[in-house]
Amino acid sequence: MSVKALIDLDACRYNLSIAKKAAPDSKCITIIKANAYGHGMVEIAKALNDADMFGVARIDEAIQLREAGITVPVLLLEGFSSENELNLVRQHKLDCVIHNESQLDLLEQSTGEKISVYLKIDSGMHRLGFNPEDVVDVMQRLKQNTNVNTTVKLMTHLANADDKQDDTTLKQIDVFYQSIESFSSAETSIANSAGILGWPQSHALWNRPGIMLYGVSPFIKGKASDHNLKPVMTLSSQLVAVKKIKKGESIGYGGTYICEKDKTVGIVAIGYGDGYPRHAKTGTPVLVNNKRCSLLGRVSMDMICVNLDEQPATKVNDPVVLWGKGLPVEEIAESADTIAYELLCGVTGRVEFVYSD
Ligand SMILES: *Cc1c(COP(=O)(O)O)cnc(C)c1O
Repeated sequence: MSVKALIDLDACRYNLSIAKKAAPDSKCITIIKANAYGHGMVEIAKALNDADMFGVARIDEAIQLREAGITVPVLLLEGFSSENELNLVRQHKLDCVIHNESQLDLLEQSTGEKISVYLKIDSGMHRLGFNPEDVVDVMQRLKQNTNVNTTVKLMTHLANADDKQDDTTLKQIDVFYQSIESFSSAETSIANSAGILGWPQSHALWNRPGIMLYGVSPFIKGKASDHNLKPVMTLSSQLVAVKKIKKGESIGYGGTYICEKDKTVGIVAIGYGDGYPRHAKTGTPVLVNNKRCSLLGRVSMDMICVNLDEQPATKVNDPVVLWGKGLPVEEIAESADTIAYELLCGVTGRVEFVYSD
């Protein structure tokens, strides 16, 4: 059976152009952390070779990009956490987010080439960043530090931008700009995908698109097509069996689905061992021969069962799409009580990745 994640690199480039059109005065820090949200970091980076900058979470991701020959600037979204990492930052010419005291200490103790810094301010998400009232002091420390490039950039991250009804976003933007009032000429960065598409107030010199590049809506209510985004990953498989199951019989582990009548049931070679979510409910849509049918019973490690009553002529080996073109991953995520980010990141190494341009 062939289980594949087909990655449409052209769609990814197109989605980046949507990010640029939505905020024409901004540049993009293209976010490709977590293996480019499960799509293959190096392949995506090579496809987006006109990016202004790439953003990753961890230093090993950045080093992997450099080892693949990528020379575009790379921003480490969590910065460094030891002297050794700081040496690697210099060696690979990485830009760093600085979000805590201990990074400031490390920066002051070390010597070498100057490092480009994005100072992260906690405007209300309360995850990473300095408190707004400490910004002036921290900037002072950075300016006196000869290990740091003098043009420190200022950034923050939005916690609730995925909900267009929630005015937390406007409050965060306010807190951020108030905290940096004395540094009005500094370059700034606020917007993630939801900021880019839904909150023009959050556009700054540097925006940070992530999920939208992969063709997924960043909003809690909404579809990728509302923003003209194209799906990048299509997860596909095939039928391994087609069976007739009698009324009253149950299907799958735990027998959670009981046939309300005689049924045609398809068994698809995909399961949580591939990253298909085990919590997907009966009724979750699946495309068999490009027609919608629905999941029945529990997801197993290697297989799922689907209702083929509407297409009884289906045969073994017929093609199946789990998400992607023709079936938005957002729908599967909703049916599995999760978000598309998690599904895309979770496709496992057993699945064959095929790239098309
Ligand atoms: C992941 C991340 C982003 C991108 O967020 P999306 O919702 O995927 O657009 C932007 N900024 C930071 C700091 C991030 O960690």
